[in-house]
Amino acid sequence: MAEHFIDCMNAKELIISKKIRLMEGVYVFDLAMPETLPFIPGQFVVLMVAPKIFRSYSLVAINDTTMTLLIDVRVGGPASQFFEACEPGDTLQLIGKALGKFTVKESDRPKVFIATGTGLAPFVPMVKQLLDQDAQANVQLFFGSRHMKDAYCDSFFEGYIDAEKHPNFKVFNCISRPEGDMKENYYDGRVTNVIPAQLEECGSQDFYLCGNPQMVDDIQAILKEKGATDNVHTEKYG
Ligand SMILES: Cc1cc2nc3c(=O)[nH]c(=O)nc-3n(C[C@H](O)[C@H](O)[C@H](O)COP(=O)(O)OP(=O)(O)OC[C@H]3O[C@@H](n4cnc5c(N)ncnc54)[C@H](O)[C@@H]3O)c2cc1C
Repeated sequence: MAEHFIDCMNAKELIISKKIRLMEGVYVFDLAMPETLPFIPGQFVVLMVAPKIFRSYSLVAINDTTMTLLIDVRVGGPASQFFEACEPGDTLQLIGKALGKFTVKESDRPKVFIATGTGLAPFVPMVKQLLDQDAQANVQLFFGSRHMKDAYCDSFFEGYIDAEKHPNFKVFNCISRPEGDMKENYYDGRVTNVIPAQLEECGSQDFYLCGNPQMVDDIQAILKEKGATDNVHTEKYG
């Protein structure tokens, strides 16, 4: 955290310009910045949400002077309380610049992204970067939700990526407590069940895992059993 404290000299005020509820406890925020912020897809920012309370958030997008974040307030700590209560017009501080090395590694291998909850956030710009470079890129995205109504991955991505133009971009919505008939591209089970059923071997792709630390550890163990070695990249939110 020392890096963040040094950068406190460089704090910039952000103004909440939009707060959209995606599901119970999960929101998309647009934050207005005084100037644009360069970032590499996959990086995060550090925000000061209250005096001396610093938290990290993966960048979904930066559009000119607007930053977009995806935030789960159900964790319940100080940042959750701030983001649950805040309204457009409220302010917070951006500390320093975009940080982190969880970025797309250059390779010819197919890419597999795996997230639960707001671990989806960095995958929006990462997948967009890959599909902008190559519209035919082979990209699979596994997204875990408890209920079908909470599987916001498809609709969230719609704002950034036109799936119809990218035939090799495939989303697997993994539903751990399904009710009723499964829609197309919906799969019955947790990501930890769906992945071994869908992927025969895991040595020839690049994997990116993000979100809940327990989920990241569990998936990493599964991928290793199926042949993954140094081709797994992770970002833990805990
Ligand atoms: C690099 C990085 C990027 C992050 N990006 C995002 C993001 O894009 N969206 C987002 O909602 N959160 C993200 N987080 C988590 C975020 O920084 C906060 O921890 C979260 O908002 C909860 O803050 P809090 O003050 O309410 O609780 P805290 O006091 O931070 O957390 C309380 C406890 O919950 C754990 N925890 C925090 N988040 C999670 C989680 N998602 N799942 C399971 N345990 C968790 C913490 O490790 C801690 O033990 C990220 C964390 C890191 C390290």
